[in-house]
Amino acid sequence: NSHSRPSASLLREQAYINGQWLSGAQQFAVHNPASGALLARVADLGAAETCAAIQAAHAALPGWRALTAQQRAAMLLRWHALILQHQQELAALISQEQGKPPAESTGEIAYGASYIEWFAEEGKRVYGEVIPSPFSDKRLLTVRQGVGVVAAITPWNFPHAMITRKVAPALAAGCTVVLKPAAETPLSALALAALAEQAGLPPGVFNVVTGTDAVGIGAELTGSPLVRALSFTGSTAVGKLLMRQCADTLKKLGLELGGNAPFIVFDDADLDAAVQGALFAKFRNSGQTCVCANRLLVQDGIYDAFAAKLAAAVAALQVGPASEPGMQQGPLISQAAVAKVQRHIANAVSLGARVLSGGAPHARGGNFFQPTVLADVTEQMQVAQEETFGPLAPLIRFHDEAEAIRLANSGESGLAAYFFSRDVSRCWRVAEAIEAGMVGINEGAISTAVAPFGGIKQSGLGREGGRLGLEEFMETKYLCFGGI
Ligand code: ADP
Repeated sequence: NSHSRPSASLLREQAYINGQWLSGAQQFAVHNPASGALLARVADLGAAETCAAIQAAHAALPGWRALTAQQRAAMLLRWHALILQHQQELAALISQEQGKPPAESTGEIAYGASYIEWFAEEGKRVYGEVIPSPFSDKRLLTVRQGVGVVAAITPWNFPHAMITRKVAPALAAGCTVVLKPAAETPLSALALAALAEQAGLPPGVFNVVTGTDAVGIGAELTGSPLVRALSFTGSTAVGKLLMRQCADTLKKLGLELGGNAPFIVFDDADLDAAVQGALFAKFRNSGQTCVCANRLLVQDGIYDAFAAKLAAAVAALQVGPASEPGMQQGPLISQAAVAKVQRHIANAVSLGARVLSGGAPHARGGNFFQPTVLADVTEQMQVAQEETFGPLAPLIRFHDEAEAIRLANSGESGLAAYFFSRDVSRCWRVAEAIEAGMVGINEGAISTAVAPFGGIKQSGLGREGGRLGLEEFMETKYLCFGGI
C-alpha cells in the first residue's frame, strides 16, 4: 500500500480532548477504500482517554450552559461558515476515507453544515410554558434545559453529516459532547474539531475520541454517570447493546438504526419519476445509507416496463474511484460489505431470481461492485429480509394495494419507506398505513435538516433534525411557585 497522504490543511491525526490535540501511545491506519492506500495514522485511544474526555466535557458544562443561546449560536454560525469555506477540502477528505464521488461528498458537507445553521437558530426558540393554575396561591410554569454531557457514536457512511446532526443540536441546547467517530472514517470528524477550535468553541465543549476499541470506548461512554444522553447511529445489533448498557445509568437515548426500506411502484405511477427516485434512493452512496430502498415492490401492470428502464439506467452508472472525473458509484467500504452483497445475490439466484444488470464484483477489483438489479425476487429471500447496504436492487412483484402494504410492513424495521402513485386517495391511504418514521411520496430524496429524521419499530428511538431534533438533548423542568 502506497502512502497517499491527503494534502489538506485540515488533516489531523491526533484526537481532540479538552481543547488539546493528543497523539496517544498507539495509532491506527486509515485507508482509502477505493485503492487501499494508506491515508493517515490516527491516535488509537481507549477507555482511559474516554474517561478524561467525559470529565473535560463535564467541567466545560457550567460555562457553556451559562452562555445565552445567542452567544452559543454565534459560535455555531462561525463554525458553519468555516465549514462552508473549506467545503472542497472537507469533501475531498470524505471521498478519500469513505469513497463516495465528489458530487456526493460536496453535497454531504452542505447538508451536514445545514444542521449547524438550523440548530444555531432553533436554540434561540427554546420556549417554556405558563400553565393555567388550578390553585389560587400557586403559579405553574416550565423551563427547558440541556440534558448535560452527551455521548455521540457515529458510523462511516456519512463521516461528516452524521456528526453534525447530533453535535449541533446538543451544543445549541447547552450540552457538551464526547464524540466517538467510526474508525473507518475519523478524518472528517477531526477536521470538524479543527474548525470548531478555529470557531472559538471553548475547550471541553466538543471532544473527539478516536480509536479502534469501540467496545472499551463504548463501555466508558455508556457506563459513566456523568454522561446524561447517548446519541447513536449504526447497526441495530450495536444499538440494542448500547441501550442495555445505558440501562444502569438510565440515559436519555437517541438511536438511528438499520432500515429495510420498501420502495413501492404502483401501476399508476409516473414511470420515469419512479425510475429516477429508485436510482437515488437505492444507489446513492453505492447503496450504503440507512434510508436506502432495500426492497423494490412493483405492481404487475408496470413491472416489466419499470424493470427494463431501471436495469438500463443502472447499467449506465459509472463505477470508479472518486479521484476519476465522472464517477457515480464509489467502492463499498470493505470486503465484508462486498461479501454481503454477493451472499444476497447468490441466495436470491439459487431461489429463482434473475439478474437483469450487474450481479458480480466490478472489473476494477478491490471493493468495487457492479450496480445490480434482480427480478423475480420473493419475500422469502435474504435480500428481502435483511438490509443489504450495497448497490443491489431486488424487484418483488405484487398484485394489489393491500398486498403492497402487507409486504412493506413485514419485518421489524420501520425507518424510511417510499412509494410512487398518481392517485391522491391512494397516496393518503398508503402513507397512513405504512409503518415507517419517514415516507417519500413520489420522491426518493427526503433528508433535510428542517424535517424530523428517525425510525419506528426496531429502527430506533427519537428524531434528528427539525424542531424535534433539539428535544432529544433537553429536559423539561416544572416550576411550582407557591405562597402567592
Ligand atoms: P456499521 O455496520 O455501520 O459499522 P456499527 O453499529 O458496527 O455499524 O458501527 C457504528 C458505530 O458504532 C461505529 O462508530 C462503531 O465503532 C461503533 N461501535 C461498534 N460496536 C460498538 C460497541 N460495542 N460499543 C460502542 N460502539 C460501538
